[in-house]
Amino acid sequence: MWRDALNYITCISCGNPDMYLKETFFRFEDDMTSPEQKTSIEYIDEGFVVCPKCEKEYPIIAGMPVLLEDTKGYTFDIDFFKPSSEHLSYSLEPTKKIGRLLQKYKVDTALDVACGLGAYTSYFACNTLVSFDISPYFIMKCIEKEGRDSGRHWFVADVMNIPFKNDSFDLIFASSILEHLEPHEVKLAIGKFNSLLRNEGIIQIDVPNNSRTQDLLRKTMTHLGFYDDDEFVDHPELGHHSLFLRKDLEKLGFDVHGCIGWVTRQKLPLGVLWEFYDLIGWYLPSLAGTLIGLKGVTNREVPNDH
Ligand SMILES: [Zn+2]
Repeated sequence: MWRDALNYITCISCGNPDMYLKETFFRFEDDMTSPEQKTSIEYIDEGFVVCPKCEKEYPIIAGMPVLLEDTKGYTFDIDFFKPSSEHLSYSLEPTKKIGRLLQKYKVDTALDVACGLGAYTSYFACNTLVSFDISPYFIMKCIEKEGRDSGRHWFVADVMNIPFKNDSFDLIFASSILEHLEPHEVKLAIGKFNSLLRNEGIIQIDVPNNSRTQDLLRKTMTHLGFYDDDEFVDHPELGHHSLFLRKDLEKLGFDVHGCIGWVTRQKLPLGVLWEFYDLIGWYLPSLAGTLIGLKGVTNREVPNDH
């Protein structure tokens, strides 16, 4: 954890925004170029983020601040980061259209909600990126992959208890996460995104489209053997607790667009035809496999790229 990551954190127990650091092991980075940076920026490997108000201590383990309500089981033992079989089998590749949109937002500070294995990390065009996931294994993998870059901050945190200060982000990105929440939790999460957002900030989310046409299409494709049974993305037993139609995202205040998701694109290599489908999905999201919700995006920021 970089020392300046403290600027973003609030205590999830009492809401206090003035936390401090108790380091047990930290180092100055050798590869910093200017002498000022050498003395002012530190990377904390082990220690605690401490709330002076309620005295809660959040451990920093292998560079990862664990900002969860219950951190009792979290020790400085690396075994803690052992993945479950569910985590090992998880994969998410970037959906082309969604990545392309991200590349267009030239903002200062962005938040990647439930970043998983960091499928979209390299698409952000911001100065500072704050990413979190509830899985320490995923965050560990992200840091391994991305290295310790001082413009990127990684946290272990829960989407239902986001530990960051209000008015801190110019862009909030939440991909393939809302469908895993219960419907009342979706509303709470979107409310929190709105509070975290700075004036004129952008929110971008995406969820599977559960329209009747899409459902029929997925069932047909599964029947024809294009999807394996476990890739049939709308099965509630795979952890989808909320299903979305275009109007559901509109009710939550989003402008809704659509595109083809990465699973289908991979299964059916139709090449340039998918570009055409993305164009149709953008204007007629009800026909798209993936729904994209946008808030605060003007035409200037999303020029037509077709
Ligand atoms: Zn506190």
